[in-house]
Amino acid sequence: MQIHIVGGGPAGLFYAYLMQRERIAAGHAPHDIRVHERDAEGATYGWGVVFSDVALSFVRDLAPELYDAMTAKQEVFDEMAVVHRGVTVTLAHNTFHRMARIDLLKALHAKCREVGVAIEFGSRIDDAAALGPCDLIVAADGARSALRTRDARHFQPTLDERPNLLAWYGTTRLFDALSLIFRQNDDGLVIAHTYRYSPTLSTFLVECDPATYAKSGLDRMSEAESLAYCERTFADDLHGHRLLSNRSSWFRYTMVSNAHWYHDRVVLIGDALRTGHPSVGSGTRLAMQDAIALFESCRTHLADDGGCDVPSMLDAFVRLRRPGSESLRQAALRSTEWYEDLGPKLSLDPVSFAYDYVTRSGRVDHAQVRKRDPELAAAYERLHPDAFA
Ligand SMILES: Cc1cc2nc3c(=O)[nH]c(=O)nc-3n(C[C@H](O)[C@H](O)[C@H](O)COP(=O)(O)OP(=O)(O)OC[C@H]3O[C@@H](n4cnc5c(N)ncnc54)[C@H](O)[C@@H]3O)c2cc1C
Repeated sequence: MQIHIVGGGPAGLFYAYLMQRERIAAGHAPHDIRVHERDAEGATYGWGVVFSDVALSFVRDLAPELYDAMTAKQEVFDEMAVVHRGVTVTLAHNTFHRMARIDLLKALHAKCREVGVAIEFGSRIDDAAALGPCDLIVAADGARSALRTRDARHFQPTLDERPNLLAWYGTTRLFDALSLIFRQNDDGLVIAHTYRYSPTLSTFLVECDPATYAKSGLDRMSEAESLAYCERTFADDLHGHRLLSNRSSWFRYTMVSNAHWYHDRVVLIGDALRTGHPSVGSGTRLAMQDAIALFESCRTHLADDGGCDVPSMLDAFVRLRRPGSESLRQAALRSTEWYEDLGPKLSLDPVSFAYDYVTRSGRVDHAQVRKRDPELAAAYERLHPDAFA
């Protein structure tokens, strides 16, 4: 098959690797697979990414050699912490794998090259027609996908821009527990989502609501002034460490979904297809699961000579992937809304606040909290004896 992949993020690279690895292992002539990446090699935004244990198990099962490369430098910790009113409540048994986004991309680049996938850096493609004749075009060009935008009439995307503002910083302060820090000041509420992802660095994602953003003057501050404001706000948590910027300007998160997942020979995967939300930390997982589903669909519709019934294959992809993807999208939306409507909850004591966080998606009930985190359940029961009489 001749396949163009637009976007060299986790979705596009993982799909390219799986397709070519399979072909070579079966002893067939390799596909002609080309990844077009707009940016230069080594350029990336942001800092670390986090995966739940479950999220990484699917990579381990399907591509253990990639799993080993991905996890060579990763940090694994078992705890979460919710800091409210200056009090830390620890949540047990939340195993997360953390790694630098750049290390994840490097591992994928190396694997792609091993199997002969061509990666063209500095190759920006805004129009599928520019790619000429081929069997399949995979639009893995992220949440602002140019290919999706160009064909919006067919894909019918919904772009739901959320009200809260986010800025993605790093810091040398090492937060071993994945920590959610809620700090109130005269301007309102500012939240940090932070976790250590390497021996020397933590991700430090700051979030605030529009009223706090305006009252604090953050909407008028330069990047350096914003950073200084966040350092002051989280001074008690940073213990003298600085925040670090990597093009860390404020942005509103847009939740993306699409009525139609493919049109003609162009298929959407990863963030171009649907985004989660940083508060559930599953965007990379969703992107890589899309890559797996598209690969599985191609595999079952591919003849030994490389011929493929592309429309049937793309139908199979949608059938395979839509149900799981939709339930995670719903969970991401509920989690997002929890952060956007914290006002009434800020009067809760730290334990009840942390409990509310744990049960926010509506998918975790008290029996499950008891099983997963008996200490939190017991502390909550002590505070609310009437509810458990
Ligand atoms: C603040 C923040 C925090 C996050 N934290 C986490 C986390 O902790 N864990 C997690 O799993 N996920 C996290 N995510 C989400 C995660 O980054 C994405 O869900 C994931 O990277 C999606 O992968 P992708 O390959 O679909 O898209 P991307 O990673 O966005 O990759 C798309 C690629 O396409 C390229 N591109 C774009 N346009 C073009 C074009 N026209 N031509 C050629 N190339 C193009 C881009 O340069 C980019 O390399 C976070 C996202 C944000 C914004």
